[in-house]
Amino acid sequence: MNGPRVRFAPSPTGYFHVGSARSALFNWFIARQSPDGVFILRIEDTDTDRNREEWVDGIVSAMAWLGLDLDAGPFRQSANHVAHTDATQRLLDGGYLYFCDCTGDDVAARKGDNKTPGYDGFCRDRGLARGERTALRFATPRTGATVVPDLIRGDVEFQNIVIDDFVVAKSSGAVLYALANVTDDRNDAITHVIRGEEHLPNAPKQMLLWSALNAVTGVDVPLPAYAHLPLLVNEQRKKLSKRKDPVATESYRDEGYLPEAFVNYLALLGWSPRGDEEIVPRQTLINEFRLEDVSHSPAFFDVKKMRSFNGEYIRRLSLDEFLAAVAPWVRPWATNWQPTDRTVPWTKEQFDEALFTRVAPLVQERVAVLSEVPSMVAFFFLDTAPYDDADFAKTIANDPLNQALLAAAIERFASEEWNATSLHASVVELGEAMGLNLRKAQAPIRCAVTGSLVGPPLFESLEFLGRERTLTRLREALERCSA
Ligand code: GLU
Repeated sequence: MNGPRVRFAPSPTGYFHVGSARSALFNWFIARQSPDGVFILRIEDTDTDRNREEWVDGIVSAMAWLGLDLDAGPFRQSANHVAHTDATQRLLDGGYLYFCDCTGDDVAARKGDNKTPGYDGFCRDRGLARGERTALRFATPRTGATVVPDLIRGDVEFQNIVIDDFVVAKSSGAVLYALANVTDDRNDAITHVIRGEEHLPNAPKQMLLWSALNAVTGVDVPLPAYAHLPLLVNEQRKKLSKRKDPVATESYRDEGYLPEAFVNYLALLGWSPRGDEEIVPRQTLINEFRLEDVSHSPAFFDVKKMRSFNGEYIRRLSLDEFLAAVAPWVRPWATNWQPTDRTVPWTKEQFDEALFTRVAPLVQERVAVLSEVPSMVAFFFLDTAPYDDADFAKTIANDPLNQALLAAAIERFASEEWNATSLHASVVELGEAMGLNLRKAQAPIRCAVTGSLVGPPLFESLEFLGRERTLTRLREALERCSA
């Protein structure tokens, strides 16, 4: 067994960021390229002040939704605290760490106007013993350089003198990210560390820790290969903001993105498959993905493009696939998963599954996300049309000519052959008699029957709705005018 061993190691401190989802995906690609590749999920939950269990659930369920299956885990970093403490003790015994009792204010006061970031090394030679307020710092070499061989960026050199003596464990004994993460990566025999660019400055520190652990344990665990993925930016080319930009993977699921579309779009953030075609099957993405081909320039997270991508994916579904995909939005009572905070306009009793199956192809052609479906088809299932007041006022209430057209349609439809083609022809004729083109003649009928001016194709809709219900709606619209 010597395939790649990769891990996705999120800290559960918020929604599952799209950037994290991309990191998970690129790790998963590497594992799935080899028959014996291993993909591990390690929840880095040691920051108890910021972690919440619901965020863990968000990550686990979003990964399942995206089809990023695990070979091991999910593990909890907190479960490895004995190994972390043991690593700390060995480094301390080996002379790599020292105790420090400086507060942040002490360090700032000493620095005065000198704005050099990081710790100034004040306690390094003080020989302090463990005390109530002593943290443990790593004594970074003061000469030489640490070179991070990054598969995406090439060799990135850090002068050791600019790497400050970072804290490895707090005075409480809690072991911090840099060492906990390295200890776990060693124990899990991780071969590739693939993560966001914001972690690049951590890499030299972690390499120093790794080598120090090799020395103190006498076990020469090979360093992993590093790959730091490019930053995701918004339309203004600014780093995606957690507050201002829509970055929560969970919310895309709720909005009705298809996992295949989402995965395909994420894959394009910093990378692209060969050829001109961007919409490619998952297996092709797996086969073609190379870390060496990932770009290091920022990648634009383009929600508009992703939406149209999703629409394209929706149109490529078979009818059965579409019906299955849209089920949580139209009959959530029958599905295991339901989108958060979305109410269906109809009741279980009002919903007519057979009718929806006939109507579905009309909307499959038109939506970009599945959550657009309910409002488009609500008029089929509700007892009365869900009127948009502004559309109704403009097209019917304040338009006597259109009211006359509705009256004529009621008469004509009573005996018209009931299919889309003849309904179409009769509305053309009704319009002509009143000097209205088809688009204008359709508008009041659409508004009366469906409640608004946008929706699926009108004549098919009338056919599916049926003569009786159509006539009732047309009459109701006229009654509404005189009420
Ligand atoms: N827990 C870190 C994070 O969520 C992991 C970084 C890494 O992959 O090393 O950012």
